Amino acid sequence: MLGLYIHVPFCAKICDYCDFHAFSAPEWLQLEYLELISREMSVFAERHLGVFSRVETLYIGGGTPSVLSPERLARLFGAIADAGVDMAVLKEATMEFNPESCDAERVAVALGAGITRASLGLQTLSDDLLSRVGRRHDVATGRRALDLLLSQKGLRVNADLMFNLPGQGIDDMLADVEWLTGRPLGHVSFYGLKVDPTRRLGRRIAKGEESVDEDLYADMYLRGVEKLESRGFMRYETSNFARAGEESLHNLNYWQRGEYLAFGPSAHGYFGGVRFSAPEKYAPWREYVKGGCPETSLMLDRLSPEDEIAEIIQLSLRTRYGLPLDALRERGTSIAPEAIDRWISKGYLEQSQGTIRLVGEGWLFMDTVVLDLYSNCTPSVNEKGC
Ligand code: SF4
Repeated sequence: MLGLYIHVPFCAKICDYCDFHAFSAPEWLQLEYLELISREMSVFAERHLGVFSRVETLYIGGGTPSVLSPERLARLFGAIADAGVDMAVLKEATMEFNPESCDAERVAVALGAGITRASLGLQTLSDDLLSRVGRRHDVATGRRALDLLLSQKGLRVNADLMFNLPGQGIDDMLADVEWLTGRPLGHVSFYGLKVDPTRRLGRRIAKGEESVDEDLYADMYLRGVEKLESRGFMRYETSNFARAGEESLHNLNYWQRGEYLAFGPSAHGYFGGVRFSAPEKYAPWREYVKGGCPETSLMLDRLSPEDEIAEIIQLSLRTRYGLPLDALRERGTSIAPEAIDRWISKGYLEQSQGTIRLVGEGWLFMDTVVLDLYSNCTPSVNEKGC
């Protein structure tokens, strides 16, 4: 399956913990961005004739795509159509909204253009916590935005919820999950705050002005998962939970190593066996597009056989579908059974019908398990030189 990701790098205000490439931009810069993203896609279309007609899923993320005015959003959709995407035939078309810029006009433009799924950055239902992490919206605005999205016929809705926020207790988090899963949405992204010491929140924590109880992280995740699942939202990826049939096709394609095109500053894609990313910051990305998108300015990563094996283990295990061991055998390698047994006896993995999956607390130690399994591939991926 071929996906298409468009990165909109603008946010009205930068949250105190943000480590994405996002910034607040004046009108002229937004207009320039729209011109450049259109050019970037058309250069790609000229080099790969017909490629955009093969796209099956679209994801417009950021940043905050909904920071664009309705007119500018319409221009963005125009650029996507001009590149050759037929929105009417997509299996899924998602756009991210933040509550403060999720209004009827923008939603109408998005739906009119063919958006079928909305993802809302709700994060928490506590005004105190929202302000402690520097979010722009308040709870009332978040609820209004969610209601607006849920009232759109046929629109599938995800909401992001964060946990382990400064000052957040387990009961606060459970109350958020309880309230949200009582709404008729199909998908919840549930993820823990990561503190970057270089960001505003990280600096406040370093100065002792704020604190996050890292010891609560594991408990919060496990209790949150239990609650989500008891309310009908099954974990299908470490941070993603869906009612039956509501999984994100676009994101599943990433984890199943499908191809996806990506445009905009810092966007990462995978096409023709090569992982690529455009310049991360806006200014070099602008120069890259104005210079005709030379491939020499892209970060290119042609996957070696051992890279592929590492990816297969890592991406498969982060989903509930797990790692079919045949996928490794087909590539001439296998994981030493003792390594698998060690994690099974610890209660972190299960094996059935030739597939291994994370279970229980194993989800918390995913990186450790993945690394161990990879380093116990036999014959060793390094020995084989594959
Ligand atoms: S809304 Fe998201 S991308 Fe924008 S500043 Fe906040 S965390 Fe970063």
